[in-house]
Amino acid sequence: MSLMKNLERLPGLYIVATPIGNLSDLAPRAASMIEQADLLLVEDSRVTGKLLQHLGLKKSMRPYHDHSSEADREAILSMLGDKMVVLVSDAGTPLISDPGYKLVHEARARGLHVGAVPGPSAPTMALTLSGLPTDRYLFAGFIPNKDKARVDLFEEFVGLRATLVFFETGPRLAKSLAAAGQVLGDRPAAVARELTKMFEEVATGTLNELTQRYADAPPKGEIVLVIGPPGEASAPDEADVDAAIDEALETMTPSRAAKEVAARLGLKKNDVYARVQQRAKH
Ligand code: SAM
Repeated sequence: MSLMKNLERLPGLYIVATPIGNLSDLAPRAASMIEQADLLLVEDSRVTGKLLQHLGLKKSMRPYHDHSSEADREAILSMLGDKMVVLVSDAGTPLISDPGYKLVHEARARGLHVGAVPGPSAPTMALTLSGLPTDRYLFAGFIPNKDKARVDLFEEFVGLRATLVFFETGPRLAKSLAAAGQVLGDRPAAVARELTKMFEEVATGTLNELTQRYADAPPKGEIVLVIGPPGEASAPDEADVDAAIDEALETMTPSRAAKEVAARLGLKKNDVYARVQQRAKH
């Protein structure tokens, strides 16, 4: 225990997770690091101010964002050799769609000490509650608001055998669910809302079912959207696969057709390629 305390007093940069709603989720070690810090780097001093009030602490705070100036970052880096600097975000784990990456990168490049206190994070909590496979997942941050950018984003993941995790807002949710359903197919999904707060809710269903649910009733509060991997929804029947292959073969080489059909239908490329070769002989 005393060794841990000594290590914690090392100068350097500490990434400290804070609650995503319920203040009781603040880890004792996170509270102790915040108390010991010489300086807190914060997104919004009013938000972190409330956490400090809850802890009965007064600390010096300095705003930090990834778009902070180079001079600002230099000034912070120059402190890390002899001060304990704690980075927090408004909620959850810093750097996860929050500031800090550039600072950690630079601190490491200069051989400065970087430590962390792990804790709450909305994407992992939503994933664990979703009932969807957790062995492989990809977190992709916020879904863009423009129609084309949204479709392009989902298209990047069509053939990926992983559960997908995104941040979304209530007013945009139905549009994103509909676009995801069109591009990825009607996969199982979960909408995790207001996690750890009074109105916490996890709604599950297929993308089409969830689109209908939220089409006329945009939900309030903070949201994580979790989408299952391909293959969770019912596999396309053979006739559909053959039709897709025949159509693709009209304009593409067998290899390109296999790649395109596999990605679109969420199938393994090698399986589709074997079928493409059979169809190409006809
Ligand atoms: N770094 C944070 C983390 O580790 O959870 C995420 C920060 S990101 C800027 C904020 C987004 O996370 C919100 O717009 C929402 O999509 C999601 N989020 C944060 N808190 C949440 C909560 N309590 N319930 C559901 N989603 C949440």
